[in-house]
Amino acid sequence: MAYEKVRELMESLKLTGMMNSLDFSLHNWGKGEKDVTELLEELLLAEVKEKSERRYLTALKYSGLPFHKTLEEFDFSFQPSIDRKQIMELKSLRFLYEKENVVLLGPPGVGKTHLAVALGMEALREGKKVYFVNAISLVDKLKKAFSERRFEKTIGYFKSIELLIVDELGYLPLENEGAKLFFELVSEKYEKGSIILTSNRGFAEWNRIFEDEILATAVLDRLLHHCTIVNIRGKSYRLREKQKTGLIGTQLISSPGH
Ligand code: ADP
Ligand code: MG
Repeated sequence: MAYEKVRELMESLKLTGMMNSLDFSLHNWGKGEKDVTELLEELLLAEVKEKSERRYLTALKYSGLPFHKTLEEFDFSFQPSIDRKQIMELKSLRFLYEKENVVLLGPPGVGKTHLAVALGMEALREGKKVYFVNAISLVDKLKKAFSERRFEKTIGYFKSIELLIVDELGYLPLENEGAKLFFELVSEKYEKGSIILTSNRGFAEWNRIFEDEILATAVLDRLLHHCTIVNIRGKSYRLREKQKTGLIGTQLISSPGH
């Protein structure tokens, strides 16, 4: 009877982790090797583990990461221009605790998004708030918020994100209003939270992305003040995969990098 009551109470308190390990823990405890506080500790640990796993999965779902790939899945030997030590230093997430930024530059297919996603997953594992967004879609969100007079609230939301990943800046130029709002966001996050940004354009070309030299300089100034820059000069992994299946020839693959 007491057992049933305990299960019921655990269920009503939503102690799923405890409930799932109850039978196993009780069975082991019955062997008489542990005292009752150790049994309690084991059950509580099961609950803590379950809750943190659930939190991770929920955060992963809402993070907007376009796929779930890790650093372990990244083939560093394919991309020798990447300093593995530098990426491992980023994996420690020191940059996140210091509220620093990361900029990944390079031509298409060299693994910029993969690395950004993998660092995002590391941060989620640490219980950090992560949000991944494409640059154009981010600017559209900012513009919409501005026109609907809720820009402050939207900026507030982005400020609450500990790691904001902005993917593919520079595939399309941002026109004047969008560029200004993007600058506003970068300024608000400056030294308050981290941004990982990926771009296929070198910094010298950012004037063209922002269509305004002063604005481009102002964005770069804040973004790069505390920043790790990963400049990838190499071959496209996507093209290599296509080449393996015989869809394209080799000359495209050996085209010069960034
Ligand atoms: P980018 O963002 O630079 O255009 P992606 O990160 O999207 O490139 O990479 C394209 C695809 O190739 C993705 O599926 C990615 O996981 C994979 N990829 C790229 N580089 C590597 C690598 N060095 N090792 C393993 N997979 C890679
Ligand atoms: Mg990409």
